[in-house]
Amino acid sequence: MKQRAGYRHRRRSANLRYRAPRSDNRIRPEGWLAPSVRHRVDTTVSLVNRFRRYAPVTEVHLESVSFDSHSLSVGKQLGGAEYPNGTLAGTDARAHLLSARGRVCAYCGATGVPLNIDHIHPVSRGGSSRLSNLVLACAPCNQAKSSTPVSQFLADRPGLLAEILAQTRTPLCDAAVMNSTRLRLVKALGALGPSAHAWPGGRTHRNRTAMGLDKTHTIDALAVGDLDRENGGKIVRVPTHVLVVKATGRGSYARTTPDRFGFPRLHRARIKQHFGYVTGDLVHATVPTGKWAGVWRGRVSVRARGQHSITTSTGRINVSHRNLRLVQRGDGYAYDTRQESVSPPSEKSG
Ligand SMILES: [Zn+2]
Repeated sequence: MKQRAGYRHRRRSANLRYRAPRSDNRIRPEGWLAPSVRHRVDTTVSLVNRFRRYAPVTEVHLESVSFDSHSLSVGKQLGGAEYPNGTLAGTDARAHLLSARGRVCAYCGATGVPLNIDHIHPVSRGGSSRLSNLVLACAPCNQAKSSTPVSQFLADRPGLLAEILAQTRTPLCDAAVMNSTRLRLVKALGALGPSAHAWPGGRTHRNRTAMGLDKTHTIDALAVGDLDRENGGKIVRVPTHVLVVKATGRGSYARTTPDRFGFPRLHRARIKQHFGYVTGDLVHATVPTGKWAGVWRGRVSVRARGQHSITTSTGRINVSHRNLRLVQRGDGYAYDTRQESVSPPSEKSG
């Protein structure tokens, strides 16, 4: 996203002096979501809609994961992860840090001394005032550290350094995205027709562990919500293979690929179709001889000379267009079947 913003920035600021002034279109409508976030809502809604075409969906049960953003960014909606340098910065942040870590200097462990708020990554070096970048430090430590990078300041105490750096990596942005899509998704699904229910993630976890099942995406999806276990409600069958759908988009309008300076690196063809195939089509390939001999199935990526490339579940292979058969036209998603695998336990998921 940053890279893309960079390209745009250059286009807006470079040699475009003849450009007409842009219109005043900067007001965002109520409930606006960033496109990258809205896509999560839209994709889910469109998939539910597709299921409804083939099966009578009467209810939608959704696990609505709520990240405890409050403990990450005190008293602030996550719209602004940056903690303002206003009146709140001194009081709320301090109160939170005290309650979370106690009245202890983060660097030397001193207790019973006045504590200052210290920026782990110093402000003078571009550190932010978001909560994950703040610790409480005694005045001597605070002064000794000053604008020294934390890695240098704690060079002789690698254990403590790792601990403090882990704190700065708290994924605030993930929590923000989850929280802003959660309600919107429930609302959008409810508007479709089938009644939508949102359930806390802890409930999924309870349902799954009560039945002694492993944690996989499918089992988690089946265990969402009010599984009436007392009256015999349980998961009796789990598929061994699952359909994996990945949003890929339908390509890009841009016909020029810029280099890292925003200058054109290569020009893509105006024509998107080569030998009857478009990038994104699902194809079946039968390769008689050579390195890639065999039968394959996957998403094609076209080349002008007809030596297309297919992304299969095991990797990319190159196939001539003569050995391809079209299964489905590209619709902005990649489809693949995969064996269900047990996912390692994670702390944030329910
Ligand atoms: Zn100290």
